[in-house]
Amino acid sequence: MPDEPTAPDEPTAPLAFADLALRPELLKALTSLGYEEPTPIQREAIPMLLAGRDLLGQAATGTGKTAAFALPILERLASMPERADPMALVLVPTRELAVQVSEAIHRYGRDLGARVLPIYGGQPIERQLHGLRRGIDVVVATPGRALDHIARKTLQLHALEVVVLDEADEMLDMGFAEDIEAILEETPAERQTVLFSATMPARIDKMARRHLRDPARVLMGREAMAPGEAPLVRQSAYLVTRAHKAAALGRVLDVEMPTAAIVFCRTREEVDQLTQTLNGRGYRAEALHGGMGQEQRDRVMRRVRAGTAELLVATDVAARGLDIDSLTHVVNYDVPSAPEAYVHRIGRVGRAGREGVAITLAEPREQRMLKTIERVTKQRIDIQKVPTVADLRARRLGMTRASLEETLMEGDLDGFRTVVETLTEQFDLMEVALAAVKLAYEATGAAADEVEIPEVTPRADSPRPARPTGGSASRYESGPSSRRDGGPPGRQDSGGKRPPRPQGPGMARIFIGSGSSAGIRPQDLVGAIAGESSLGGREIGAIQIAERFALVEVPEASVDEVIRALKGTTIKGRKFSVRRDRG
Ligand code: AMP
Repeated sequence: MPDEPTAPDEPTAPLAFADLALRPELLKALTSLGYEEPTPIQREAIPMLLAGRDLLGQAATGTGKTAAFALPILERLASMPERADPMALVLVPTRELAVQVSEAIHRYGRDLGARVLPIYGGQPIERQLHGLRRGIDVVVATPGRALDHIARKTLQLHALEVVVLDEADEMLDMGFAEDIEAILEETPAERQTVLFSATMPARIDKMARRHLRDPARVLMGREAMAPGEAPLVRQSAYLVTRAHKAAALGRVLDVEMPTAAIVFCRTREEVDQLTQTLNGRGYRAEALHGGMGQEQRDRVMRRVRAGTAELLVATDVAARGLDIDSLTHVVNYDVPSAPEAYVHRIGRVGRAGREGVAITLAEPREQRMLKTIERVTKQRIDIQKVPTVADLRARRLGMTRASLEETLMEGDLDGFRTVVETLTEQFDLMEVALAAVKLAYEATGAAADEVEIPEVTPRADSPRPARPTGGSASRYESGPSSRRDGGPPGRQDSGGKRPPRPQGPGMARIFIGSGSSAGIRPQDLVGAIAGESSLGGREIGAIQIAERFALVEVPEASVDEVIRALKGTTIKGRKFSVRRDRG
């Protein structure tokens, strides 16, 4: 009998990492990364995985799920004798995730000497062969490439003790169901199996029933809150890529102009870095995290309370229990790791009938988490566009106008009269006034930071875009493995002629100047698009691959973003031309 689902609630288990029976090398790695406490999903999952249970977890990106499965894998690895063949295999939908997850495991397991290798389509196979030959402990792979290596006998799964299916719903959406089945068949029956998925549709349940043995379950945000439990504040979110986060935060702060704000970060490192960046940009920011002594913290809080600092950049742990009267804004620099954490954070503002504002910066991959938070809190989070350079300019001009108006009302301007009088001998009065306004405007710091931040289009989770060939729940009628045997009819090689397939409603077509002759397969395109843009695998429409080119349908609203993303990436190690197809 599977366990009753447990919802990871905040107040239940204030468990620290040190309580989790992890070895000192791992605890040290976590401290050096600036993690202060386990996330709810980690608290629930780690003890069960350490006990050897299979696990079915509902968790999206942002919940800390990677560490939740990686730490028990590393703990197990450390207790095993050294061997050549991998003891754990993590399957992920995209190459970006393969790289990200493998880097994370490497960071956590550095002091244990863990050997981790990402293998994914698009990277030359030789490099991966070399890595595999040297001996590897944990392989993080996309299903297609994993199968390639299994067929070549370069990936041996007989010694596997743990298999993780990460973002299982995305993998199914991308048509990897058959590949996953084929891979699991090659693994020892007594392995430990972990399945993480952001959503739990029937197909995932079926998969779990087939491959997991008496799994423990960890469900995120299972119970909705009663109305009124979550504080009423204006809530909005901005979608930005990691690279533009700090700039976007500055832009949002400039438009919002908080009297005082807490900016929440996940780790101590992030707190320190962001505080530095913000101070460099001219804000008065103070850092607060668990690595600071009491005296230091008191000093920071005095500055914030006295209004000497306008921004307090803090981790959840450090900000727990703080009460700041003047607080107008709460900013989540990252999406919090659980809906409960979100509610705790935003509860800092909007007290005693004052209007509060909660702002969340979310990376494209974290949108699922935002949706979960909306569902649990039964409150809407408006997705807004990051203010553009024009918005910012308009705002600063407004401020300049207001200060000039104030100065005019105050009077006492005679001391400057001779300057204007002498200038008007040479220039028109209007021009003199314009120059003075320009100076005042520039004094607001307007010259800095005037770079456009690329817009990220929100992913449309529902309704799903219509797919011309429709019918199947999966992207491809028969999944990537059978595509290798020729693929579904009309999907792949169309002999170089432009196929007359109609576009689905609301969809646009993108032309890619590389095709089957360069080894491009549908899953390479899906992987590149899903990994590099905010589109999810299921939002991508029909894909046609000809010898020398490929056509991909994407929602009209995302065309520009996808083109930008594809232009900035390589497939099979190569750059290629990308444009909108109007044919
Ligand atoms: P994930 O949901 O696994 O993609 O993790 C999201 C982010 O949270 C990653 O940047 C991790 O480095 C970070 N993270 C994971 N666990 C913790 C933790 N306990 N405390 C702080 N940050 C964490």
